[in-house]
Amino acid sequence: MIAYTDKSKGLRGLSCFLVEMRTPGVSVTADYDTMMGDRPCEVTFDNVRIPATNLVGSEGDGMALAQQWITEGRILRHGARSLGVAERCLELGISYSRQRQTFGAPLAARQAIQFMIADTYAELQQARLLVRDAALDLERGRDVRLKSWIAKSQATEMGFRAVDRCMQMHGGMGLTTEMPIERMWREQRSFIITEGAAEVMRASISKKVYDLYE
Ligand SMILES: Cc1cc2nc3c(=O)[nH]c(=O)nc-3n(C[C@H](O)[C@H](O)[C@H](O)COP(=O)(O)OP(=O)(O)OC[C@H]3O[C@@H](n4cnc5c(N)ncnc54)[C@H](O)[C@@H]3O)c2cc1C
Repeated sequence: MIAYTDKSKGLRGLSCFLVEMRTPGVSVTADYDTMMGDRPCEVTFDNVRIPATNLVGSEGDGMALAQQWITEGRILRHGARSLGVAERCLELGISYSRQRQTFGAPLAARQAIQFMIADTYAELQQARLLVRDAALDLERGRDVRLKSWIAKSQATEMGFRAVDRCMQMHGGMGLTTEMPIERMWREQRSFIITEGAAEVMRASISKKVYDLYE
């Protein structure tokens, strides 16, 4: 849990704590089903007391820790995972379009389908470079916030375009739960919102870019 320990210090007054769910005063007051199967909860804290040893890091570290974890997640989870989704969609799309015949020819012979494959492949290469570049700088201990916003927004949107095209080229089969496509589609759509909505990523990018070109 991240909470204020000194509100007068603003963001530097936030601290991070481990809170056992069985601690008196902690209760789950709502939980929600989502289209991805995740179940986010609303947790209420009512006069909760925890030992000082439950403090993570030092007092005032809360914002820095949260930012570190979410920045890593944007590159190594949402970013990298989107590359895997697009790669799998290429495999599925190429295999199915070679095998499926419509109106006397395989789908792979249709330019409309070839363009979907070409766009997915080209966009995947671009996103892979962004994610790897950000991951390399992260490993080197550099400030990767700008690169993480770019990698997260570009890779997650690329992944969704890839799985959406894959669904389209599979026709009705793509909508069935026989195939993994509809599940990837639901999950990939959620990544454009979680860990920072696409618009919030763009707002952060543009603020930084205005600063860079001052
Ligand atoms: C399954 C699940 C798991 C989650 N896990 C975590 C977690 O572990 N830790 C955590 O901290 N959070 C978690 N979240 C929260 C998640 O990060 C937020 O839902 C997400 O960042 C979007 O914030 P919000 O829902 O408050 O949407 P809002 O901030 O209410 O925004 C709604 C929409 O408005 C638009 N918008 C918002 N701000 C702007 C802006 N400045 N400019 C233009 N458009 C804007 C965007 O389109 C956005 O999607 C989780 C959410 C879900 C659904």
